[in-house]
Amino acid sequence: MALINFSSKGIYCKQGNFYIDPWQPVDLAVTTHGHADHVKWGNKAYLCHELTKPVLNQRLGTDLKIETLPYHKEISINGVKISLFPAGHVIGSSQIRLEYKGEICVISGDYKVEYDGISTAFEPVKCHTFVSESTFGLPIYKWQPQEIIFNQMRSWISDNQDKGKTSVLVAYSLGKAQRLIKNLHGYSDIYVHQSIANLNEAFIQAGVDLPPTTRITPDLRKETLQQGIVIVPPALAEGRWIKNLQSAATGVCSGWMQVRAGRRWRAADAGFALSDHADWPDLLSAIKATEAEKVFVTHGFTSTFSKYLNEIGIESEEVKTQYGQEEEAEKETTELMKEREEQL
Ligand SMILES: [Zn+2]
Ligand SMILES: [Zn+2]
Repeated sequence: MALINFSSKGIYCKQGNFYIDPWQPVDLAVTTHGHADHVKWGNKAYLCHELTKPVLNQRLGTDLKIETLPYHKEISINGVKISLFPAGHVIGSSQIRLEYKGEICVISGDYKVEYDGISTAFEPVKCHTFVSESTFGLPIYKWQPQEIIFNQMRSWISDNQDKGKTSVLVAYSLGKAQRLIKNLHGYSDIYVHQSIANLNEAFIQAGVDLPPTTRITPDLRKETLQQGIVIVPPALAEGRWIKNLQSAATGVCSGWMQVRAGRRWRAADAGFALSDHADWPDLLSAIKATEAEKVFVTHGFTSTFSKYLNEIGIESEEVKTQYGQEEEAEKETTELMKEREEQL
């Protein structure tokens, strides 16, 4: 019997009786990372990496039953061995390795191969069955090394400072924001929206070596922000909030920025093709490194990508999941936070 199957609630391991990243409430949700399309509220218990716990507490509440694991430590549930390996996607993100009677399956969640300076570097794991995303599973997606992108960003920022414009970088509050902070630290003072500030504090408390930033509050002077770097989540990118700043220049940080037609935010002044997902060559190299006999493709350009894998002799199948709506999901989360704040 297969070690996993794709049920209406999520990826299910029958032998262990648990789910991986389920989108409907279950008894035990083994969680790859804290993005809203991979972890939902309402599960009886969660199992995740120790640095994903602060994210779940921050996003879903503190009254959750959460068990944690460090990378590489193995536990057993109903005879199924479970261990976590770094996925390199965001802080705490994990590939879930399952082993039962010699059969090994790895569910990678979201991943990227390039080391970003803050998320534990991706590690290939050998397995029989590999579950992969394909968010950027088209040959046109090929990232430049991040240092090149960060240099472009630095010169854009200093240009804005010269022109008296405020540099506003649009980045997911989990992942991209911490990556920007780590790599732009020391260049200019960094000011972050509260959704990012809250996560940063949780990470710092959990021992992550994240440089200090300033939480944006109404009493901060616009002139102060203008000389620094402002980071906001996508939901705020086009809002009144930005219009209130002193002539803001907006820079969107996303893999979609590599292709002009993929620009999601037309109002942006600059696009930086910085992604937390593997590009086409890295998806292929990561999959080959697993030596898997079978690859399931869960989200992104699933049909093109799995067709290509079959053509090059790697047996592959696309499956329907509810992953891949990070952007929308994050919007939802930010909206919820706003509502909650208004109620207070
Ligand atoms: Zn993700
Ligand atoms: Zn995802």
